[in-house]
Amino acid sequence: MEKIVVGAGHAGFQLAASLRVANFRGDISLLNGEAGLPYQRPPLSKDFLKSGRHDALHFRGPEFFSDNEINLVAEEAVQIDRVQRKVVTASRNELSFDHLVIATGTVNRLLEVPGAGPDIIYIKTLGDAEGLRRRMPGFRKVVVVGGGFIGLEFAAAAAPEGIEVNVVDAADRLMSRTASRMVSAWFEEQHRRSGVRFYLNATVTAIARRNGAIEGVTLNDGRQIEADAVVVGIGSVPCQSLASEAGLTVNNGIVVDQYLRTSDPSISAIGDCSVFPSLYAASHIRLECVQNAADQAKCVALRITGSATPYTSLPWFWSEQGDDRLQIAGLIDRHDTAVVRGAPEDRSFSVFCFQADRLVGVESVNRAADHIVARRLLTAGSSVDPAKIADASLDLKSLLDRHLPPS
Ligand code: FAD
Repeated sequence: MEKIVVGAGHAGFQLAASLRVANFRGDISLLNGEAGLPYQRPPLSKDFLKSGRHDALHFRGPEFFSDNEINLVAEEAVQIDRVQRKVVTASRNELSFDHLVIATGTVNRLLEVPGAGPDIIYIKTLGDAEGLRRRMPGFRKVVVVGGGFIGLEFAAAAAPEGIEVNVVDAADRLMSRTASRMVSAWFEEQHRRSGVRFYLNATVTAIARRNGAIEGVTLNDGRQIEADAVVVGIGSVPCQSLASEAGLTVNNGIVVDQYLRTSDPSISAIGDCSVFPSLYAASHIRLECVQNAADQAKCVALRITGSATPYTSLPWFWSEQGDDRLQIAGLIDRHDTAVVRGAPEDRSFSVFCFQADRLVGVESVNRAADHIVARRLLTAGSSVDPAKIADASLDLKSLLDRHLPPS
């Protein structure tokens, strides 16, 4: 019984670990396309930029893999042979499987404009973050392309270092794909107070250089912004070529069913690379967050060990920008009503997002307790009255008592 996991990021590592927790006794090979021990990415655009601490990044030390007999293979998979049930690695090793799990994640969407070169900075891998940390002390002026989580987390780390930060985003507001208008505006204000400047409704059309070195960017309306470095966070694209070349169905990710099986039931796909049916979305979705990677891994590990259940986990995310922590439960992209609870002026509030009077998501800023309750309310599908939620005297936990059986 050989299980092969391709990709040793959050999803792949969790799958291997969860198989052992579920008492799976067969062979596990975890193919790691990156050098070193598997590590988590969220700190790369947050604490790591300040601390440079590696020990906080690795999921587990080397002994974990030997103790649990997880064969960590420092090789990339280059081909899946579905007929022979083999994975071929870059060095032409062939590994047989009876079940294969693809957990290949994403790669950065590239800024493809004239003047873009290898000195443009992306934050995806530990190597990227190490390179950025080394270069940061030399920065005076940085343009950040993309006002999403990663760009803003970098901006929040750079501005206090005295670096002039200009953020350019094509949308009319920050974090437009993931946050409500209220939360976008609140974070924009906090960043402005730290000296960050914003160019919204704008795109970068060229990188200007002098003697090869970056000296600025040009925007679509002709404006120029001076910069000695450009950091790009404009989204990611799924690593799906292994799957598509093997004839599996792909569509902006590797398409899976509610059990996270691809179009070949002996192959699953999990994490950022998978497109799956969700209770919380109108159609198949692809999510890029730790919650989804970890929960999908646990779901597949249980199926492999004989306890198959559909994947139904509630999505949740977080971001840390300076001293402020944003936690989002649920998906708010289709909300029509937003109700604020708490005090934005005191840096502690939540935005409850409703669609046709149904609670679909909650954003909490420096309010972890709300986030925890929100996850439980959303998971239970509780009905929450939008008119009552802003009432400070309402104890959110009382909504749980009313709607959930005692645990
Ligand atoms: P990944 O962690 O990307 O792992 C995929 C792995 O597969 C990679 O190591 C890749 O090299 C490897 N691989 C690809 N192809 C092959 C192959 N052919 N053979 C072998 N290996 C291969 N999420 C949050 O919820 N909160 C956050 O605050 C947050 N912050 C983030 C900050 C940064 C800078 C980044 C980059 C991401 C952040 N995320 C955050 C997203 C989160 O890290 C991802 O959702 C999560 O890592 C997804 O796990 P994954 O295993 O699907 O993919």
